[in-house]
Amino acid sequence: MTHALDEPTRLAMREALQDLAERLSSLLTNTESAAQQVPLKENASRLSRMDEMHNQSILRANRTVTRNRLMAIQKAFGRIEDGSYGTCLECLEAIALPRLKAYPEASLCLACKAAGEAT
Ligand SMILES: [Zn+2]
Repeated sequence: MTHALDEPTRLAMREALQDLAERLSSLLTNTESAAQQVPLKENASRLSRMDEMHNQSILRANRTVTRNRLMAIQKAFGRIEDGSYGTCLECLEAIALPRLKAYPEASLCLACKAAGEAT
C-alpha cells in the first residue's frame, strides 16, 4: 500500500489527532460529574426534574459521541503508524485532505461514508 500522505502532512495530521484527543478527553472529564445521576432535589418540581433529566440525557448522548470519536482517534493513530492513514478503508482511495482536516479521525472518504449512512 502506498502512503496516501506526504510526510509533513502525515505529521501535521498526527498533531491534529493529538490535539483533538486531548480536547475530547478534557471535555469528558469536565462533564463527568454533570452526567452522574440527577440527585432528587428537595422541593424540586416534577417539571424541573424532567427538564434536568432531559438535559442530562442530551449530555450523556454527547459524551457517548465523544467517547466513540476518541476510539476512532485511537484507531487513526494506528493507521498513521502503519501508513494506511488518509486512505479510505472501503474503496482504498485517498480521503480528501479538507475532510481529514475537518475530521482527522475519518477512516472513510465522503462517498463511502455517505453510502454507509444510506443503507
Ligand atoms: Zn471510499
